[in-house]
Amino acid sequence: MKNNYKVSNKLAVLFIIACLSVGRSQSKDEVQIKKMYDLALTEGKGYDWLNYLSNQIGGRLSGSVQAQQAVDYTKAQLDSLGVDKVWLQPVMVPKWVRGTPEFAYFETTPGSTTNVAICALGGSVATPSTGVKAKIIEVDGIEQLSTLGKDQIEGKIVFFNRPMDATQINTFTAYSGCVDQRYAGALEASKYGALGVIVRSMNLRLDIYPHTGSMSYGDQPESERIPAAAISTNGAELLSTSLKLNPDINFYFKQNCKLFKDVESYNVIAEIKGSEKPDEIIVVGGHLDSWDLGDGSHDDGAGCVQSMEVLNLFKKTGYKPKRTVRVVLFMNEENGLRGGNKYAEVAISKNEKHIFALESDSGGFTPRGFTFDSSQEDFEKVLTWKNLFKPYLVHYFEKGFAGADIGPLKKDGMVMAGLRPDSQRYFDHHHAENDTFEHVNRRELQLGAATMASLVYLVDSNGF
Ligand SMILES: [Zn+2]
Repeated sequence: MKNNYKVSNKLAVLFIIACLSVGRSQSKDEVQIKKMYDLALTEGKGYDWLNYLSNQIGGRLSGSVQAQQAVDYTKAQLDSLGVDKVWLQPVMVPKWVRGTPEFAYFETTPGSTTNVAICALGGSVATPSTGVKAKIIEVDGIEQLSTLGKDQIEGKIVFFNRPMDATQINTFTAYSGCVDQRYAGALEASKYGALGVIVRSMNLRLDIYPHTGSMSYGDQPESERIPAAAISTNGAELLSTSLKLNPDINFYFKQNCKLFKDVESYNVIAEIKGSEKPDEIIVVGGHLDSWDLGDGSHDDGAGCVQSMEVLNLFKKTGYKPKRTVRVVLFMNEENGLRGGNKYAEVAISKNEKHIFALESDSGGFTPRGFTFDSSQEDFEKVLTWKNLFKPYLVHYFEKGFAGADIGPLKKDGMVMAGLRPDSQRYFDHHHAENDTFEHVNRRELQLGAATMASLVYLVDSNGF
């Protein structure tokens, strides 16, 4: 009895020691994470940075004066954080210019016209100076072109009207389901003799804003390229209804966008050198360029300032990373991905060892979690940190696509992640005139920054 008592006593002591030691290491993480969330919500700089980028600079299309102003501004702000190194990485980017505002109407009977809101798709050619006027034919996607054939398409404008699928809870899945008509619609329709294409905006909501976005002609000769524009969802609905009443409608549109020669621009990079393993690099970033219609607050001013905030939160909380933590503001994600490609090219040529990359390019909305592109083993390690995010209502940890800009860096053994904010309202603003600062909520933006800083902290302190 006495001996048993001793043994159980000993076990109890061991158990308490074990609990305390687990408790200590957990609470160190919990304390650091809480500090960063608290600071982000009270003294974070991200919202003010975004205010400047959006309201003092505005839309930052690659090759524009505004893109250069954004490079200068973010570099100066990163300099002011007192990190170890800030530099610009040169990269050649395309320079596409929209020109004067586009104009479009449809004509039900001669002289009876209804104006509709359109915008040229990024990279599109102009219409002839007098515009294009022709019969318009509606399709539900690229697949339907071959069914209609040259007979029914030649000499007409093709109207791609497949809507985003409203039943998809992940709105990015809905986007993927129809973005091919925007990206390749003009190239495909031109093979059947179409004169131009009008594409329904990638938006789940019915509203007045046309949404631009990248499109490609592949290696099609310039003489065969046809102009492409997006129409607002309201415009698409009206046009579609009118076509059902009268399939003989004429459509007119005019745009004078132009592609110039490539110009030099920059990725903006800043880093805190690792105190123990400086050769192991962690990247966190977003893209500094945006489309020209709004001010690019959600896409992707938000991701840029959140990434900058990661370094700010480390400095402010006195956290000295073991590994090198680098923020990269990539140039030209929207119409070329040249910045992401250049960063990876330089990293490979210098034989740099990147262990982790995190991108924020899904808007500045309430953070829900992350997607991870990694081995199963590394993913399981990440899952052991999930509980640390519970107090912040961040719970979505899934495998999946991480990000476009960090994509070219990807290699075996590396872990890639994307911040996943709530996506329900993202496509209301994406690439449109209403992607503006007043649609970003300060708390939501700052919570996203703290969520990113917490994951970077956990990767840095634990490694893979
Ligand atoms: Zn983006």
